[in-house]
Order: sequence, then structure tokens, then C-alpha cells
Amino acid sequence: MSPGSRRSPVPGLLKGLATTARTLARPTHTAEYPDTKPALPPRSRGVIALTEENCTSCMLCARECPDWCIYIDSHKETLPATTEGGRERQRNVLDRFAIDFSLCMYCSICVEVCPFDALHWSPEFEYAETDIRDLLHEKDRLGQWMQTVPPPPALDPAAAEPAEVAAANRPPRTGLRERPAPRTARGTSPAAAPSDTPAPPPGEDA
Ligand code: SF4
Ligand code: SF4
Repeated sequence: MSPGSRRSPVPGLLKGLATTARTLARPTHTAEYPDTKPALPPRSRGVIALTEENCTSCMLCARECPDWCIYIDSHKETLPATTEGGRERQRNVLDRFAIDFSLCMYCSICVEVCPFDALHWSPEFEYAETDIRDLLHEKDRLGQWMQTVPPPPALDPAAAEPAEVAAANRPPRTGLRERPAPRTARGTSPAAAPSDTPAPPPGEDA
């Protein structure tokens, strides 16, 4: 380095101090977790909660999970007939439902595909473990997360009425026309059609 290229460090120092003074007055974007809890959106994907009573062991979620991290075991139970002469019925009984959160990628496919609203997102995220095997949550633990699931958002008052509600509120149809009698092969109604049965002799009832 030539002696002429040496510059004084003072301007750079002042510039740095000015930058520090400027940012001191700005609001911070960081929070001192865990002393300060983050304000998360209510529908955050923290952990998956299970409503066991709603689960029919249909396996749809386990089949659609791209990570194959849902484990379901079930068996069939025979229910006796409810009426005399009726048929026995069978239903699935859930033995095991577990999600391995060390594999889960929080894609939400399982929650979306469940046809019985058995899976829900909770914003709870504080379930880190020192042993990765403890991230396998069995159905009891998944059920406990239900307490942290926020209620569903209010319905939009301007939204169209759901089809089921509209059908239930529809007044019954009146003034239905009588069904026309089915026509025979000859194009006449059965009442007018000639009968193949011979007429009874006079004096006898048909
Ligand atoms: S899709 Fe729903 S009902 Fe079917 S097994 Fe999964 S959680 Fe249970
Ligand atoms: S969120 Fe995605 S990866 Fe996680 S269990 Fe559900 S389907 Fe599997």
C-alpha cells in the first residue's frame, strides 16, 4: 500500500455511528422468545389435532400423506341387528392413530382430505423434543391438542346460503299433478285395456 492511499478512519467511524443512531430509533422486528411469545395468525400450522370420535379409520389421510408419516391400526366390530330379522352391521374401531412430526412437512393434505373433520390445525408449536423419537404423537396426545384449536371463523354474512340449508328451508311442493297411469303395449291404460282373463259366467262374482 502506497503512503498516499492511506485514509483517515474518522469519516468511516462517524458514518457507522450515524447508522447505529438511525436504527436505534426504529422499532425492532425481533422478539425475545421465549420471554415474548410471537403473535401468530390463528390458522397457523403448528401441530395437527385429532377428534377421535370423528375418525372412521377410512385411511384416506394415511394414503394421501406424501411423507407416509400417519400410522393407523383398526379392527372391525360386529354390531347386532337393531330390529328383529334385521342384519348385523360392522364398524371400524380405531386402535392406533399416530403422526410422526419428525417426518411431517406440514402440507395440510391430511387435514384437507379427511371427509369427517377429524383432523384440525392448532397454532401450538412448542413441542420440540431432545429425542427425535418423542416427536411421534399417538392418538391420546393428538387428542389433547384439540384444546388449542381455535374456533372456526365466523361465516361471511354476504355469503350464499349453503345448498343443504337452502334445501331444508324450501317449502314443500304443493299442487302436484297426478301421475299418469302407465301405458300398455297397445297404447291404452290398464283400466281400458281388454283383459285376457275370461269373464265369469252370469251370477258368479269375479
Ligand atoms: S381421513 Fe379422517 S376419518 Fe379417515 S382415517 Fe384419516 S382422520 Fe380418520
Ligand atoms: S401435514 Fe402433510 S406430511 Fe404432515 S401428516 Fe399431514 S399429509 Fe402428512
